[in-house]
This record gives sequence, C-alpha cells and structure tokens, in this order.
Amino acid sequence: RAKQQGRSTYQWYSQEFNEEASYRVALRNDLQDAIDQEQLSVYYQPLVDARTGKTRNIEALVRWQHPTRGLISPGDFIPLAEDTGQIIALGEWVLRQACRDMVHLHSRGFRYCSVSVNVSPVQLRKEGFIHTVTDALKASGLRPESLELEVVESAVLLDTDLVINTLHAIRELGVHIAIDDFGTGFSSLSYIKLLPANKIKIDHSFIKDVIENRSDAAITQGVISMAHHLGLEVVAEGVETEAHATYLRKNQCDLLQGFAFARPMPFDDLLTFLNNQVSANTPQAGSNEEQE
Ligand code: C2E
Ligand code: MG
Ligand code: MG
Ligand code: MG
Repeated sequence: RAKQQGRSTYQWYSQEFNEEASYRVALRNDLQDAIDQEQLSVYYQPLVDARTGKTRNIEALVRWQHPTRGLISPGDFIPLAEDTGQIIALGEWVLRQACRDMVHLHSRGFRYCSVSVNVSPVQLRKEGFIHTVTDALKASGLRPESLELEVVESAVLLDTDLVINTLHAIRELGVHIAIDDFGTGFSSLSYIKLLPANKIKIDHSFIKDVIENRSDAAITQGVISMAHHLGLEVVAEGVETEAHATYLRKNQCDLLQGFAFARPMPFDDLLTFLNNQVSANTPQAGSNEEQE
C-alpha cells in the first residue's frame, strides 16, 4: 500500500514538474512579445515618511498583463528574464518608463517625491549599465537626485569589483542606492561596508511578526541602529497594519512601505492617491503650496 502511494506521489510530482517546465517555456516565448508589444506596465507603491505620513518615495514595480493568462506577477517572470537575458531589455524599459512618469509627477507639483527602480544583478554586471542610466535620465529630463536604484545584497557576490565600481559611478551621478530585501541575502556584513548605499530596506519577512517574535524584533531594531550609525536611512517593507506602523515609528524607522498605506497601483491612481494625501493634510482649501 505504501509502495502504491509512493508511486502515485511520484507520478503526481513528475506531472507537476512537467507542467511547471512547459509553463516556463511558454512564458519565455511570450515574454519577448510582452517586451515588444506593450503588455508590460509599471505600477507604483508609495513609501511614506514615518514621522509625517507624507509620501517621499515611490517604488516602481513591473506588471505583465498577459493576453490569455491574465496578470502575471514579477516573482514569476523576473527570474525567467534573468535566465534568458531578457531582463536587460525589460529592465531598461522599466527604468525609462519610471523616469518619464516621475517627470510627469513632478510637473503636477509632487517634486518632493523620488522614484525607486529595482535593478537585477544581471543588469549591474552588464557592461554599459551606467550609460543606460544616464540615457534614461537625459531622455526624460529627470534630475539624478530624484532617482534611486534598488539592489539586493547578493548583487555583489559575482564580479564584486565590477559591480562596486558601477555602483560608485551611479552615486557620482547623484543617483541614490537602496539595498533591497536586507537580511535575506546570505551575504557577509563586510559587503555592506563596500556598498555605496543611501538606504537599507528591511525585508518584509522580518516585519511580518516583528511585534510578537523576539528574534524578528531584535533583528529589526539591530538593523535600524546599524543603518543609522552608518548614516543610512531605513525602510520597513511589508507594513500591513497600523500596529506594525506604530511599532516601527517607535523604533525610529525612517520610511514605511506596505499595504497599510497603499498597494502598488497604476500611475493615474498614484496621482489620485497623492492628491488625496495633500488635501487631507491641508486644512484650508487653496493653501496647498506644493501644488502648482
Ligand atoms: P521588492 O523589490 O522587494 O518589492 C516589494 C514587493 O512587496 C512587491 O511585490 C510589493 O507588491 C510587495 N508588497 C508591498 N507591500 C506589501 C505588504 O504590505 N505585504 C506584502 N505581503 N507584500 C507587499 P511585487 O510587485 O510582486 O514584486 C516582487 C519582486 O519582483 C520585487 O520585490 C522585485 O524583487 C521584483 N521586481 C518587481 N519589479 C521589478 C523590476 O522592474 N525589475 C526587477 N529587476 N525586479 C522587479
Ligand atoms: Mg524593491
Ligand atoms: Mg524588497
Ligand atoms: Mg523582494
């Protein structure tokens, strides 16, 4: 009986595996169409200042509206695009779109907002990435200080010198750098010293149970303290409740990002969100200095 069960489990796994494999092959072929035929779009999620509640930074998150499969999450297609090298074209497209949208946002009066774009380690290791960044800035007219690139710690594990040099060149342009998913990368703390970062983003896996889990609380408080001593700002990712936000404010976290404030949304919704935020903080009509 056990044997029988073993075999059916095996067959079940193997069928799963085949379905998974053919799904990946199909997606890979479709991804080129997605890049060529405008099936991709950029959603935006606000990061709010922990003290004032005001949006200071906006993360660009790519979305794929597949013609038959519907909305596909970046967690499913970014790794694939990294395997095939398609991440180069995709990443450049996102960067250019995000810069253009941010210039539009600034023209609507939200000049105090900067945009953060996720950059794959594959992009960072590609010769000429720095030109991709300067081209996107030049084409859009966005000030370098209004752009931030989000990089995972493990980006420096391969071709360390090349990546560190690229990051220094990016900083010299005036563009900011954030270390994304901090704490999940299995990388040594000595890399933190090497990375020319402005900001650390604590991964949501530490934030989820931070109120009741002693280890998560210790890690979160430790990272905040370390970052501040290094002169870096700290973001908490995945802030889902007001209780989390309160806890993080109390512990001197600088910026909060998560469903408690806003979900990633299309650009038009972001404009509405920011306008509502401004009018909520403006007691008298017409006294809003930040609007043009
Ligand atoms: P990430 O850069 O760490 O982005 C944060 C992810 O957390 C986003 O998932 C966001 O929707 C999600 N999130 C935000 N607030 C909450 C919350 O309160 N609770 C929970 N549970 N999740 C929250 P998303 O958009 O699915 O993106 C997943 C990952 O895909 C990103 O993680 C990033 O690593 C990658 N990605 C997204 N867009 C791009 C891109 O344009 N280029 C590259 N290279 N990677 C991207
Ligand atoms: Mg990110
Ligand atoms: Mg993250
Ligand atoms: Mg992540």
